[in-house]
Amino acid sequence: MKIILSTLNSRYTHSSIGLRYLYANMSELQNDSLILEFSINEAIQTIAEKILDAQPDILGLGVYIWNATQTQELIEVIKKVSPSTKIVIGGPEVSYEPFRVDFSKADFVLQGEGDTAFYKLCKEIISHTAPKQKIIKPVLADLATLKLPYEHYSQNDIDTRYIYVEASRGCPFMCEFCLSSIDEKVRNFDIDILIKEFSHLWDLGVRNFKFIDRTFNLNIRFANAILDFFLSKEPPYFAHFEVIPDHFPESIKQKIALFPSGALQLEIGIQTLNPEVAQNINRPLKLKKIYENLDFIENQTKAHVHLDLIVGLPGEDLESFGQNLNKLVSISTSEIQIGILKKLSGTTLDRHDLKFGMRYSDIPPYDILSNDLLSFKDIQKMKRFARFWDLIYNSGNFKKVIILLWKDTTVYDSFFAFSQWIYTQTDSTWKISLDRLSQLLFTYLTQELPFSNEEVADLLIQDLLKIKGRILPKYLKPYAPKQDKANTTNLQQANKRQARHAG
Ligand code: SF4
Repeated sequence: MKIILSTLNSRYTHSSIGLRYLYANMSELQNDSLILEFSINEAIQTIAEKILDAQPDILGLGVYIWNATQTQELIEVIKKVSPSTKIVIGGPEVSYEPFRVDFSKADFVLQGEGDTAFYKLCKEIISHTAPKQKIIKPVLADLATLKLPYEHYSQNDIDTRYIYVEASRGCPFMCEFCLSSIDEKVRNFDIDILIKEFSHLWDLGVRNFKFIDRTFNLNIRFANAILDFFLSKEPPYFAHFEVIPDHFPESIKQKIALFPSGALQLEIGIQTLNPEVAQNINRPLKLKKIYENLDFIENQTKAHVHLDLIVGLPGEDLESFGQNLNKLVSISTSEIQIGILKKLSGTTLDRHDLKFGMRYSDIPPYDILSNDLLSFKDIQKMKRFARFWDLIYNSGNFKKVIILLWKDTTVYDSFFAFSQWIYTQTDSTWKISLDRLSQLLFTYLTQELPFSNEEVADLLIQDLLKIKGRILPKYLKPYAPKQDKANTTNLQQANKRQARHAG
């Protein structure tokens, strides 16, 4: 009997903690089981070939929003070539209905947590006692007895990929766009056992820990124990946590403030700062606490922070979104990730469909297409806004010069106008080099806005030369300070000499 556990990660550098949970809990079937991981960029037929080379009797596939369509295609190919292989799918994308991707060729769908349920189903398939129905809804796993996955990260995983870990499951809040709002309660793993596991990972060389907990800072005792674990270690290391913005008790603040630069990353879901919109989606919004905590993080810690905002929430127009963005930029220098609202099966977001005229794509990632306040064109413009915001603002490449963009107006208004203009020049939001981006910014600021070439060039040069070894693009050379002109010329001559020798 051969059992393959597989999934398509969104990138090679990602590893699947879910597959390792399944493998860890396979008991006596573990010797017959094998993890095969792929990424969505690989050719589906090549993935099918590699899986079928292992001659699986049972194939378990983890399905997520980022791999749903590719997984559907993979199932089609495998079922045609090897109809006797039993395919079991599980994961968030198939845990709730309606399915908007057709998974009808799969033999079984495990909904919810499959950590131990997959083993049980394999036993039943092997003994020909599997349930008649296709959809199976197991009870929640008992975290106290669940075997942990961490020993199943290989040395190659540790050397080349992010290592995912978790201290808790679930979220007590009920933000309607989020799958975690369906969880009934928060469950914690045994903290002493976890710390031992993390110590073992550390000894094997893991320095990059990504916590998948939805609300890391909810349980203060747990959060403190984990922060203490890292604070007892010698940097460099990197720990990533998703946190809620309104809950930073003093003990957590004190610890966060002790982390050295580059060691701590916090992902903070803001989503909206509009109380009415927050109320529409059942999201708690303690504005005073949020501002207080963001101010603390900004001024008293060295944490790298991502703040999240969403476009398209029920009842939020572009003006309100713009005010959210303006406010965040005024109080924080952190990256601000702008996401587009998605309707996930299982959430209660669809109760707003009629009232706010919400229309979503039925193709993953199920983005909003329009609503009564935002036309399809508005959403398209905001998708490009988000992409250019990433390239220009979040990249950190233009920290000095970007201030000119909103010198005489608001951040949102100015960046909206700029994102519209830059799109007329590029007709694309992809594959734009840093040199081209900088030249477009230069052109916009000097030709569409009233700044002088010298003023813009001076700030752009400071931004670009912040990274050692960068060469100034040709259009900026006339404005380069003498020293940099000499360095650039020397570097170019050295490159030419090298090229001649190589030739
Ligand atoms: S958005 Fe965050 S706080 Fe809200 S339900 Fe989801 S995980 Fe919980």
